[in-house]
Amino acid sequence: MTRDLLYLLAASLFIVGLRMMGHPRTAVRGNLVGALGMLVAIGATLPGLGLPLLLVAMVVGSALGVVAATRVKMTAMPEMVGLLNGLGGAASVLVAGGEGASGGAAGVATAAGGLIGSVTFFGRYVAFGKLAEFLAVSRALKPWQGAVKYGFSGLVAAGALASAVGGNPAAGAAGLAIAGLLLLRRETFPGMNVAKAAVLLLALAAAAMAAGGSGYWTLVAVAGVLGVLLTWSIGGADMPVVIALLNSYSGLAAAATGFVIGNTVLIISGALVGASGIILSGIMCRAMNRSLVNVVLGAFGGAAAGPKADEVYRTVKATSAEEVAMLLESARRVVIVPGYGMAVAQAQHAVRDLANLVEKEFGAEVVYAIHPVAGRMPGHMNVLLAEADVPYGKLKELDEINAAMESTDVCIVVGANDVVNPLARTDPSSPIAGMPIVDADRARTCVVVKRSLGPGFAGIPNPLFAKEKTLMLFKDAREAFVEIAAAVKAR
Ligand code: NDP
Repeated sequence: MTRDLLYLLAASLFIVGLRMMGHPRTAVRGNLVGALGMLVAIGATLPGLGLPLLLVAMVVGSALGVVAATRVKMTAMPEMVGLLNGLGGAASVLVAGGEGASGGAAGVATAAGGLIGSVTFFGRYVAFGKLAEFLAVSRALKPWQGAVKYGFSGLVAAGALASAVGGNPAAGAAGLAIAGLLLLRRETFPGMNVAKAAVLLLALAAAAMAAGGSGYWTLVAVAGVLGVLLTWSIGGADMPVVIALLNSYSGLAAAATGFVIGNTVLIISGALVGASGIILSGIMCRAMNRSLVNVVLGAFGGAAAGPKADEVYRTVKATSAEEVAMLLESARRVVIVPGYGMAVAQAQHAVRDLANLVEKEFGAEVVYAIHPVAGRMPGHMNVLLAEADVPYGKLKELDEINAAMESTDVCIVVGANDVVNPLARTDPSSPIAGMPIVDADRARTCVVVKRSLGPGFAGIPNPLFAKEKTLMLFKDAREAFVEIAAAVKAR
């Protein structure tokens, strides 16, 4: 009874916390309220369980979590969030499997926990590997990338062999398939679509059997193959949607596991994660002009041919910090478009300093264009700019920014690439085709700050860099903004 009341309190705190996280001003407190809810939930669950072992697990887990979270670089945050999310899926698989419920509603919940949890775990691993650039690539890897890639495949292969020797050849075969697929160096392979469809059917059949009480680990292994295949060929503009979707899956897996072990707060928190993940997927889909079905099934087919970088970049013009300062001096409206490179350079403070300076010295209006998938995680740019104390009112969404782009004197693109690539509008075979972009090419002058003509996440050239009205400032973003600010002060 007391436990149920405490669970109710925890669930209420989760909901209030989520609500508060919906606005930047209350987000930090909302996060704390959610964490408090989790503390209440843990406190209510602990009594009656094997306390010593749990405490050891909690201490070890918390220590690892604190070390990882404090040492992770801001740019590696998306990978870190992905890993933690994938571990949630793995936990669901283990708890549902450990409970071993069979038949009836509990059996269905067990099968759902195993199926969704395993798809989440392996799908998330693939997304992690693609963000960290060691999966589905043919170039030479850094030592740590090789260690993770081959180490993880080795572990999966060892587990698969152990299953086969232990009397489960089906799980062994599926496990070996996962280990092998994870070593592929390309995003597609012949017959991939057929393989996806076949594995989906196999996974559903295995889930039906597991619901009846047999073959749980076979289901987990086959669902793992499905998780790898579904995420393997996804790139370009679809990755953010898939990441949001996998977040949602981890919640659904937890909710299913909550049914298996009869834990109300796990059901509620899982449902909250599942629902918010679906809402986020919907928002990302709308922002990217994709349908959910299209993303999950549409990742079929090979990489687009597209234009060659050498041809696109024939007319690129380089500029200097002094020239940019001169442009800013006569500007009335300036738009800054931040992207992943701003996060890499940790340039948000330098960017804000320049914006304030230009407003103060030259009286121009400076606003920021926030593209929903700029960076490597949803809300990435909002987080960075909030950290630099940029007033929330200065962050503008796509529609508003694009409507006033033609009357913008200077548009400064800082470390963004795909989100300002006009190929999204003009090349239907591009991996970002149809994705709404910030129309930086429609400003009177466009300055692009990046280190080279290297591509962004989607791996394609960007005709914006070679436009008549575009000037390239080839520098690290932070250095560039510090230099422009110095040049502004010198004027
Ligand atoms: P991009 O990945 O398209 O481009 C980033 C650019 O930053 C690169 O071209 C790079 O060029 C430049 N850069 C890197 N380091 C620095 C530095 N130190 N100083 C200056 N520039 C630097 O970024 P966008 O934000 O435009 O687009 C995001 C992409 O990521 C989209 O394709 C999106 O679909 C994808 N994605 C987004 C997710 C999300 O949830 N937001 C999740 C997963 C993927 P150079 O090397 O020449 O400096």
